[in-house]
Amino acid sequence: MIFYGNGVSKGIAIGEVFLYQPVLPAPQQAHYEGDAAPFLEQYEQFCAQARGQLQSLRDQMAKSDPEKAAIFSAQMELLCDEVMEEEIRDAIQYDAWMPGWAVESVYSRYEQRLQKAKDPFIRERAADLRDVKGRLLRICYGIPEQSLASLEKPVIIAAHDLLPSDTAVMDRAHVLGIVTEIGGATSHSAIIARSYEIPAVLGVPSLLSQLSAGEKVILDAVDGVLISQPEPHQEAAMRQKQEAYRQQAAQIKKYLHKQPLTADGTRIEIGLNIGSASPQELEGSAVTDFVGLFRTEFLYMDSDHMPTEEEQLAQYQKALLEYAPRPVVLRTLDIGGDKTLPYFSLPQEQNPFLGERAIRLCFAHPELLRTQLRAALRASTAGQLWIMLPMVGSIEDIRQAKALLEQAKQELREEGLPFDEDVRLGVMIEIPALAVIADLVAQEVDFASIGTNDLCQYLLAVDRMNPAVSRYYQSYHPALFRLIGNAVQQFNQAGKPVCVCGELGGDPLAAPVLVGLGLRKLSMSLSSVAAVKRALAGFTLKQMEEMARAVMGITGSQAQAYLQRCAESLEAENSETN
Ligand code: PEP
Ligand code: MG
Repeated sequence: MIFYGNGVSKGIAIGEVFLYQPVLPAPQQAHYEGDAAPFLEQYEQFCAQARGQLQSLRDQMAKSDPEKAAIFSAQMELLCDEVMEEEIRDAIQYDAWMPGWAVESVYSRYEQRLQKAKDPFIRERAADLRDVKGRLLRICYGIPEQSLASLEKPVIIAAHDLLPSDTAVMDRAHVLGIVTEIGGATSHSAIIARSYEIPAVLGVPSLLSQLSAGEKVILDAVDGVLISQPEPHQEAAMRQKQEAYRQQAAQIKKYLHKQPLTADGTRIEIGLNIGSASPQELEGSAVTDFVGLFRTEFLYMDSDHMPTEEEQLAQYQKALLEYAPRPVVLRTLDIGGDKTLPYFSLPQEQNPFLGERAIRLCFAHPELLRTQLRAALRASTAGQLWIMLPMVGSIEDIRQAKALLEQAKQELREEGLPFDEDVRLGVMIEIPALAVIADLVAQEVDFASIGTNDLCQYLLAVDRMNPAVSRYYQSYHPALFRLIGNAVQQFNQAGKPVCVCGELGGDPLAAPVLVGLGLRKLSMSLSSVAAVKRALAGFTLKQMEEMARAVMGITGSQAQAYLQRCAESLEAENSETN
């Protein structure tokens, strides 16, 4: 049987299932009669026991893994949360609720509130509440804890969900893989699985009722698939895939912390694309040179209101401080097209991708841009800020945005609020017209970054979101390479920085071509950094220029096959030298 889910931590595992179904008491509404004092006393005792357990788990982890120990510190804080404690005591004292029922209802109410949060990271913290509640209730009903701390043999854990306390004590040496019924890429289990490099497929509905303990399964977290009771030929094929994946991953990983150099020693700058200033997102700081794209719209999309100047300021400062003195390229609000805000109604348009999107929407609602620019400028004292405008189509657009930036600066000057007067202003090149007049644009701005995702969609007239036309969306189309080449040449001639921050920049097949076209800066998500560094190390500048010339003169599909061959010959060379 084949199950499909979300492969959130890549890899392949083959082994026996360990069904992890800890017993969670489900108290019913129950009242006591008589005096409240002994029941309040009971509740205090449960809390004291739970505190003791958490404390010893924390101390146990503090030596081996201080980061995971922090999970238990955070859970101790939840356990001692004054507001929840008071509500539970009140329910016992004034409503005559049994302690178990009082714990169940108060914790569940707060858990539901957290689950409704827009921010996925806050939502995931509901797992900690559930965890603490489970501990308290097990103590209350005298139910022993089922633990992943000592597994007898290597297994693939199948669970509804894994709570922070489960993964913290998990006997990692015996965990081949993880599969759960709920959870997504930002869930606690996913973060832990990735940090332990355990293959994980999450979000497989009704999984547990269809698996038996001890049965053999294949967990393919590369493609997000679980195969139960595999046929011998499926297992043999998967073992081959597993070996190839292991070898490739090991090779690629070696490059993560290396300097990004071409085979003949030219240094390429690698930027990081981020969507927030969370610690998880900023993890790539150690292996990248700058933030090449801060998609600030995610800040707006993860909020249930328009983020205030202060809220934005705090986020921007975090990213700038982390990278200082290296630049952080902050893209102004890019809403419209496929990105919407629940609390802000966008115009109803027949072609939203060609409509009032991004900078155009900001021009129509200047107060949006004003707040953002003020926050960005105020954050600029924390590091080196570059401000970038999305969806710019003309020199007039740039001048209009410049005027708004100048207004925001003037306001701050008058209010005596400090900012960096030398903040750079640049544009995304994602409307083809801007790439065509790149020589004029380069005179107008301090830098540019090429958004190949949109540039490709507008150049080839293919909706990037519509699967029906996805085959027309040719990332290796010669027109796209020629256009990028023109923009890069103009910016290089003007001595102004130019980067690629669309997906093409993080594509190991395309990265050498982009360098061959004259780019010396590429920005990408962290998961692409090692593979791109490795691809760059494989070719000399001359070879990359040759590759660029080649792909500009053949069709998109020929270019794909050609670049694939270049990568394969590199692969063959690498395996000979290793
Ligand atoms: C792009 O268009 O290439 C880009 C980086 O912007 P986004 O993908 O956010 O539209
Ligand atoms: Mg774009």
